[in-house]
Amino acid sequence: MLALWRTRQRSAGDRMADHWNAAMSLMEQLLKLHRVDGQLRGLRTRLDAAQRQVTAQDRSIGALRVQRQELEGQRKQAQARTVNLEVEAKAMEERVERLRSDLNASQTQKQYAAILSEVNGLKNKRTEVDEKALAEMERTEKLATEIANLDEALAEREKVRQIAEKELAEREAEISERLAELQRERDVAASVIPEQAIALFNRMADRYEGEAMAQIEEIDRRSRDYSCSACNMQIPFESVSRLTSSSAEVVQCGVCQRILYLQEEVRGALAKK
Ligand SMILES: [Zn+2]
Repeated sequence: MLALWRTRQRSAGDRMADHWNAAMSLMEQLLKLHRVDGQLRGLRTRLDAAQRQVTAQDRSIGALRVQRQELEGQRKQAQARTVNLEVEAKAMEERVERLRSDLNASQTQKQYAAILSEVNGLKNKRTEVDEKALAEMERTEKLATEIANLDEALAEREKVRQIAEKELAEREAEISERLAELQRERDVAASVIPEQAIALFNRMADRYEGEAMAQIEEIDRRSRDYSCSACNMQIPFESVSRLTSSSAEVVQCGVCQRILYLQEEVRGALAKK
């Protein structure tokens, strides 16, 4: 019911706006567009901020996943090296076992000494291999801890992302109606403005993030001193008088190129002259 009432109100408002549009000068039409465009941009900015939150979370989740993949690769390699070293150690142990029985069966002093020397050599190598295996095992464990920490960080990020996504959806739902309404208003405001002026307005609005228009500041009427309120540069009086004498002309700041407008009070005072 309320929605219907609002629709009726709006269409009555639209009719009034149409009537008003017909009587408006190009400057007034552009100012109206400027105002609606500003509201629209403001509303979108709120959405953009929420969207940026989601994107930022996505980015850090992506980075954490890449990091996790790298660590997982390193962990698997360290694990494989541990297994290889263990196989090597086992082979040595078996060899030592065999040499021990050879030692018992040895016939000569020379033979005994040779076998004993090999056994001792193997024992030293075995110690080395065991140390390497231990180091690889420690490395594997350390990597596993790092991966577990990353998983925790990932879970935390996912939670933050979910919250950000929920907030974005809420904001979208909240303002979608108003956004569509403003978009319609903007379309209506733009529809009465000549194509060239609209193109210029859109270009300036994009360049200056919605600041397509700038008010002419009257510094001193007597010495005809005027400036652009956006870039503060001086505006030749010729530009000012073009605005007061013609209601269908677009005048731009010579420096920042924004579309200029005059305060009604200043315009009126100058027109009287
Ligand atoms: Zn300027």
